[in-house]
Amino acid sequence: MNPAAPADGAPLGCVADVLAAARRAGVARLDAQLLLTHHLRRTRAWLLAHDDAPIESPIAATLRDALARRAAGEPLAYVIGMQSFRGLALQVGTGVLVPRPETEVLVEWALERLAACHSGSDTSVVDLGTGSGAIALAVKQARPDTAVCATDRSAAALAMARRNALQLGLDVELVQGDWWGCLEGRRFTLALANPPYVAESDPHLSLLQHEPQDALTPGGDGLDALRAIVAAAPAHLLPGAWLLLEHGHDQPEAVRSLLVGRGFQQVETRVDLAGLARCTGGVWPGDTDSILRSSAELPRRAAL
Ligand code: GLN
Repeated sequence: MNPAAPADGAPLGCVADVLAAARRAGVARLDAQLLLTHHLRRTRAWLLAHDDAPIESPIAATLRDALARRAAGEPLAYVIGMQSFRGLALQVGTGVLVPRPETEVLVEWALERLAACHSGSDTSVVDLGTGSGAIALAVKQARPDTAVCATDRSAAALAMARRNALQLGLDVELVQGDWWGCLEGRRFTLALANPPYVAESDPHLSLLQHEPQDALTPGGDGLDALRAIVAAAPAHLLPGAWLLLEHGHDQPEAVRSLLVGRGFQQVETRVDLAGLARCTGGVWPGDTDSILRSSAELPRRAAL
């Protein structure tokens, strides 16, 4: 079979042929245009003016395969192998969740907290369950003066995060383990996570079957990963540290009550660009012991 011909036999000789083949395969025109701009290394403006531009046969073969994958429901980001997140071009593949625009809200909030509370040199940030590295890398890019650590229990995800860190020249520490499990004895000034939170029974899950299911749902009501992160957080947070969590649009009350129940203060929820409750966070005041310790140290510090 000619690899440059779509399933219905028509050749993919020029841009218009690819757009027509996409339409026949049920692939959205925008997705087809994005595939074309990616593989032809052209802008969309160029594409719109060059319907008759010829396509070389190896590229036509790649596009034919890409159209088939997209038609089968694979996320465009996997088909292209890239996803943009807060201006960073990240490599993505089937081992990691495709970074979503709504997660940028979490990063903006983190940067706000860093700007308000910390000068860089004493600042340590952790991103739990980093996947492609999106959150950790976006924080590091915006605040190169902070020490950023990222964890994931998946070796495949960490390998992807490492590739992205190298490619972008961003120095992020990557540690393998479950949530806080690999961070014994370490405390941070800011902690972030976009854990799996989709409920097992959510019909939305079946639309996301190409992505790693354990990055999307912890099973049950969808809150188990958030529960585990909040429960163990105090042992890893310095007094005054913020814990910011992404969650489902129907979970803000549940996450607020987890945080309040664990002793967090100033607990609040932020909405995403669609106006959906998307992130909840709070500040860890410090445990009683450490508060007493630090107040006992104050006069000595003042006397120095
Ligand atoms: N926001 C994603 C979705 O619903 C889920 C991401 C997650 O579970 N962390 O598509």
